[in-house]
Amino acid sequence: MQRFVGFVYQQVRLHGCQGRPQYIEITIRPHGGIRRRCGRCQRPAAGYDCLPERRWLFVPLWGIPTYFCYAPRRVQCAEHGVVVEHIPWSGGKRPVTCAMMEFLARWARRLSWRETARSFQTSWEAVYRSVEWFVQWGLEHRELGGVASIGIDEIHWGRGLRADNFLTVIYQIDASCRRLLWVGRRRSQATLRRGLKVLGPEVVKGLRFVCTDMWKPYLQVIAKQAGQALHVLDRFHITSHLNQAVDQVRRAESTRLRANSQKAAQRLKHLRWPLLRRRSRVRGRARQKLQTLLASKLATARAWDLKETFSHFWRYKSVIWAAAFLHYWCFRAQRSRLDPMKKVARMLRAHEPLILNWFRAKGEISSGVVEGLNNKIRVVTRRSYGFRTFEAMEIALYHNLGRLPEPKSSHRFC
Ligand SMILES: [Zn+2]
Repeated sequence: MQRFVGFVYQQVRLHGCQGRPQYIEITIRPHGGIRRRCGRCQRPAAGYDCLPERRWLFVPLWGIPTYFCYAPRRVQCAEHGVVVEHIPWSGGKRPVTCAMMEFLARWARRLSWRETARSFQTSWEAVYRSVEWFVQWGLEHRELGGVASIGIDEIHWGRGLRADNFLTVIYQIDASCRRLLWVGRRRSQATLRRGLKVLGPEVVKGLRFVCTDMWKPYLQVIAKQAGQALHVLDRFHITSHLNQAVDQVRRAESTRLRANSQKAAQRLKHLRWPLLRRRSRVRGRARQKLQTLLASKLATARAWDLKETFSHFWRYKSVIWAAAFLHYWCFRAQRSRLDPMKKVARMLRAHEPLILNWFRAKGEISSGVVEGLNNKIRVVTRRSYGFRTFEAMEIALYHNLGRLPEPKSSHRFC
């Protein structure tokens, strides 16, 4: 076991009941020859008095809950007055040692918090507090220099479409480091401003690329605060808008056909997912069905064709040719008599400069990063149905995706 300077292990006692071990108590006493230190500045200070004995939960030894027992002393610090001495294994008022908090926090990344609590015979609350401590330490010590590109996105959370059910996330999407930088409730201008404030003016002014959705509040804040950065609309978001439009056309048409005859409606059945995939990715029976559909004169077929044509857009190298293609595509979509597709065309025209920035930033931003990080967030939020509060989920997200620095551990158990 690690030695703490200024303290000695005095006694280890195993408590049991009817021959079965229940818990271990490790009594610690101060080292006689070493001066106590102030709990705030850690400088040696004069003694004042002694407080009653406290217990701290330590990492279980041989599966038996283990506690440190120690009576903290108070010191008279020249600067801070009468305060509790510096106790190296204690993280403030928490009844858990730093080693145990680290131990629980590390496990909480592999197991759910409930499973972690059950495995190490402690409470969900203790796991929560441990992760919170771990994350706070990481956030205080993280390095934000060198952030050149960020991605901003909104994520739906929980049930319903109330404003509170959305989160705004800011990622770093540089090739060298991809991580969650910030998460906040709602998706308004105020939310994003709060997030950028946390990153600090130096980081915001140093940004070279910002990648977002077409969500208006974000566009406005970015234009104002990070005007020097190249603002790129993410490919993944545009594709998903197109897919949604195709799906809307399919659903509307399906309803219309069903009103006439069941047989006609059969043609659109089980086609939701094949329609959203790229043509080359559709195989087997779905492919046959898709081919029949495309041969028909149905609106869904035309919508799908428009969506599929748009994928050529991303292959251009030159901004000028890409712009020409975009104009041609929007022209076709406007004349398609399909309202959802017309809506997408209008949206693309309105954001044309930002969409074309994708070609100006080519090679610097890879398109799937934001999407990939979003998927990871979903994994965490889904695994954590126990997170009833935003605060708990926020901590879990930083813990899993923030790549935070970790406290130098005194004991490493996992
Ligand atoms: Zn002090």
